[in-house]
Amino acid sequence: GGVKSLKIPDAPLPKSKNVDVLKEFEKSKSKKNASFVVVGHVDAGKSTLMGRLLLDLNVVDQRTIQKYRKEAESIGKSSFALAWVLDQRSEERSRGVTIDIATNKFETENTSFTILDAPGHRDFIPNMIAGASQADFAILVVDATTGAFEAGLKGQTREHSLLLRSMGVSRVIVAVNKLDTVGWSQERFNEISQQVSGFLSGTGFQLKNVSFVPVSGLHGDNIVKRSTDPASSWYDGRTLVEELENSEPMARALNKPLRLTVSEVYRTTQSPVTVSGRIDAGSLQVGDALIIQPSGEKAYVKSLELDHEPVDWAVAGQNIIIHLSNIDPIHVRVGDIVCDTRQPIGCIDTFTVKVLAFDILMPMQVDVHRGRLHAAGQIVEISALLDKTRGTVIKKKPKIVKPASVARVVVKMATKVPLEAGQRVVLRCGGETVAAGLLE
Ligand code: GDP
Repeated sequence: GGVKSLKIPDAPLPKSKNVDVLKEFEKSKSKKNASFVVVGHVDAGKSTLMGRLLLDLNVVDQRTIQKYRKEAESIGKSSFALAWVLDQRSEERSRGVTIDIATNKFETENTSFTILDAPGHRDFIPNMIAGASQADFAILVVDATTGAFEAGLKGQTREHSLLLRSMGVSRVIVAVNKLDTVGWSQERFNEISQQVSGFLSGTGFQLKNVSFVPVSGLHGDNIVKRSTDPASSWYDGRTLVEELENSEPMARALNKPLRLTVSEVYRTTQSPVTVSGRIDAGSLQVGDALIIQPSGEKAYVKSLELDHEPVDWAVAGQNIIIHLSNIDPIHVRVGDIVCDTRQPIGCIDTFTVKVLAFDILMPMQVDVHRGRLHAAGQIVEISALLDKTRGTVIKKKPKIVKPASVARVVVKMATKVPLEAGQRVVLRCGGETVAAGLLE
């Protein structure tokens, strides 16, 4: 196998319409775009919940669900049918059957939502980091079943919450799930809400940005449709979808230089090099010249697609497909950054980062994750221990950093990677997250 180098002939340059993109965007009054990640302990019911959401919003049709139900029943696991909605799609994606970033999209009256990163991946945390780095908010799923909630809080719920916070996500909708298993006990819901509130505020979340919804993903209560179970009549708050609609996307950096992290690279009839990804900052239009980092190669925007439709331009916050011209596929990889030609991101091998330590830090080998990119590096120096709230230096050059402390560390990469100040990175070691923070 391997990608064969294609010599790209000097194709005619695409014609730019010279659109004033920001003005057009103002005028277009298009729907709000919002992206979110779904996190929580394994078996909390994340896949089932998302399957239910897509089913009840009519994104997936009854026939598909019936098919999954039959298959699931045939292996004696009828409850798996809903979870398969997402899993099936991601499997298709990984086989390359449908390469389509819009698969996990759905719309409500005012908002077009993207579910970033399908839950249930084997290698969940790196995917979650990629998702959380682009998320406007998160759904944290907790299992209300007696015992399961407590196990979850000690388990992945903690790591996931810390990661969300470190990646800059501030809005969390907590789906208190499987309430059917505890007879829709209001007491249980309140007890869990209180514990999760305490825990999240300890992690640095502001409680005004956290809300709780009692749900059953399996039976479809309070997801899109209000629960009709009489035992749940004590709840008159929002459904999960109403909470989603009530969440403001983060401010988009429309005026900044273009940055798009490539999430998929493939070949289409339009172009031998088509990429998809979310625009993290800036805007672009057909005909624009681009630089792909780290290769530093130039390419042109031949055409653009948004939600299966060709478009002339796109802005930060949108998930798009770019058909490129005048570039060889060997220069473009998943995790690369697409930039404008005037202010491309630089490639560096040493950087300083202000991190929250999840574990003990010392000079050590680490895997550096930034969005989808991850590469080998090394903590070469701990410059200072910092005050958690003020960020002032408490101690210079400490030998180690204890968990839950904030520190400034210097990281050296094995090779140059596209990174810049203001980006958030996660440091992992032996499959565990050891620290996360902001590049200075
Ligand atoms: P994930 O690992 O978080 O994606 O969890 P899954 O969605 O695969 O669900 C794990 C198990 O919990 C499956 O057997 C589901 O059928 C079950 N489950 C999920 N949601 C509910 C619920 O609301 N009520 C009940 N009783 N079971 C549920």
